[in-house]
Amino acid sequence: MAISEIQSVAERPEGNELAGRVALVTGGTRGIGAAICRALAGHGASVAAGFSHDRERAEAFRAELAAGGADVTLHRGNVSSAEDCRRTVQEVVDAHGQIDILVNNAGITMDRIVSKMADADWYDVIGVNLSGTFFMSKAALEHMLERGSGRIINISSIIGQTGNVGQANYAASKSGLFGLTMSLAKEAAFSLKRAGRLEAYGAGITVNAVAPGFIETEMLDSVPEKALERIRSEVPLHRLGRPEEVARVVRFLAADASSYITGQVWAINGGQEM
Ligand code: NDP
Repeated sequence: MAISEIQSVAERPEGNELAGRVALVTGGTRGIGAAICRALAGHGASVAAGFSHDRERAEAFRAELAAGGADVTLHRGNVSSAEDCRRTVQEVVDAHGQIDILVNNAGITMDRIVSKMADADWYDVIGVNLSGTFFMSKAALEHMLERGSGRIINISSIIGQTGNVGQANYAASKSGLFGLTMSLAKEAAFSLKRAGRLEAYGAGITVNAVAPGFIETEMLDSVPEKALERIRSEVPLHRLGRPEEVARVVRFLAADASSYITGQVWAINGGQEM
């Protein structure tokens, strides 16, 4: 099957289920984050896309989405800074009036075996991937609790489930997201109940994680072709994943109708881990 057909299968429109919703996607202007923004906007959501350094590219992405009729804003910030996270959440609320969906997607790798891993390699990866998700979620959750509804979706990784040679920092950050996701899910429900706002069949506030396998983005540019060949041979479906295939699950979890799914990890890995 041609790649264009694969995209159309993953992105088949299923209506405007996110109309009136506002989604903030960190690292939302390229790779998996851009695919998530496209999927959410394609189902009616207004989108606030975060980025950290490449403004030119972010502007080009915004123009692309806006040309398709989407309501989209850009927000620059470093998610490893608690201050930037608080400012970004406020910026999005000021621009759109609310945040219904937070997708913690921004992530980095700095691969080295432990004996060669510098202190900064450890702190930087934990800072962006794990602390960034904590700071963003903390700021957005406060707002969601005031509104009584919301969706938080954290982008973890298969590496958080399996570990990997040369990725102790990345694996620890992505495993850490599992505990953070479950704790946030429990606290969100607890806080809603305490406030007397846990409606039996309402949208509520849910917090989930997705754990993609190896997905074709720039993040894999540093992986040698030989290693990618080995990975493909280990995946039962014998290929890497596409960003749209991750976005599809995020969009599903983001819908109001996914109200009875919380604290879970959704694997999207071609069967690599089972
Ligand atoms: P990319 O490298 O293509 O994109 C990473 C994104 O994160 C960019 O938008 C980048 O912004 C943003 N970002 C990086 N550092 C910061 C920061 N300090 N503050 C704010 N934003 C930042 O990655 P992918 O699209 O491949 O990955 C997206 C997520 O999916 C990551 O969390 C990654 O760990 C996870 N993942 C990826 C897999 C893969 O195989 N690709 C597999 C499993 C999980 P800017 O454009 O401005 O640099």
